[in-house]
Amino acid sequence: MIDFHVHIGRLTRVRRYKVYDLTPQQLVERMDREGIEKSVLLPLESPEAVAGWFLTEDAIAARDLYPERLIAFMSLDPRSRRVAEMFDMYVEDYDCRGFGELKNGLAFDDERHQVIYAKCDEYRLPLVFHSDPGLCYDEVGLPRLESMLQRYPRCTFCGHGPGFWAAISGDDDRSGGYPKGPVAPDGVVDRLLAEYDNLYAIFDAGSGHNALTRDPDFTLGFLERHHEKLLFGTDYLRAFQHLPQVDWLAQVDIPAQWRRQMACGNAQRLLDFGDQR
Ligand SMILES: [Zn+2]
Repeated sequence: MIDFHVHIGRLTRVRRYKVYDLTPQQLVERMDREGIEKSVLLPLESPEAVAGWFLTEDAIAARDLYPERLIAFMSLDPRSRRVAEMFDMYVEDYDCRGFGELKNGLAFDDERHQVIYAKCDEYRLPLVFHSDPGLCYDEVGLPRLESMLQRYPRCTFCGHGPGFWAAISGDDDRSGGYPKGPVAPDGVVDRLLAEYDNLYAIFDAGSGHNALTRDPDFTLGFLERHHEKLLFGTDYLRAFQHLPQVDWLAQVDIPAQWRRQMACGNAQRLLDFGDQR
């Protein structure tokens, strides 16, 4: 399995006994226990993302400790200086394989985001984004996302977060959260996955797991339509964290080939292995 969404580092600034920030060693030991071969490290550098930080440099250092197990993405706050130049450096000098997690208080199609999308398009890299009310925000029907899918066709946008997954249902009103119960017809996530080769979805965290378990009858059809566009991920970031996606993927009643694609085949294609690692 390839986990497309993990974080380590100083993510919190609360009292010490309440949380345990993960070290690279703890991450790899948990991967061993869960049967996860490789994980994608997603730095978080925007102040709205978490109370602390996980810098790109720390992702690179962890990857260099475990180059056969960890893959480093980069993250840059789009409001920081020399974003395009830093992007080139992290790809060309440090072998970062994608961008993410993009999670900040700007609109999804903000001009400062488009500097990053254009770079991903230039290098043909995947980008992991978080969508929520007020975070990389969009309107009902996700028109901002759709226009970026059209404008940057060689950037592969990988969707995640309550605001993304709530839009699996036709009754999404952009309030986010973890809606339960039947999925209403004509959800925009379903349509965009079908229409755009450069949109993928990560069934990670509470939101992705909720979206694929809230309506089992809907889920089967959704997996049939999109098993080549779905990525396994956990959003693992602290010790003792429950990872329901692992059991769900092992148990869901689908053909073995779909399971393989969702567990690693789709990720492998985006991460472009076969060369160095
Ligand atoms: Zn995350």
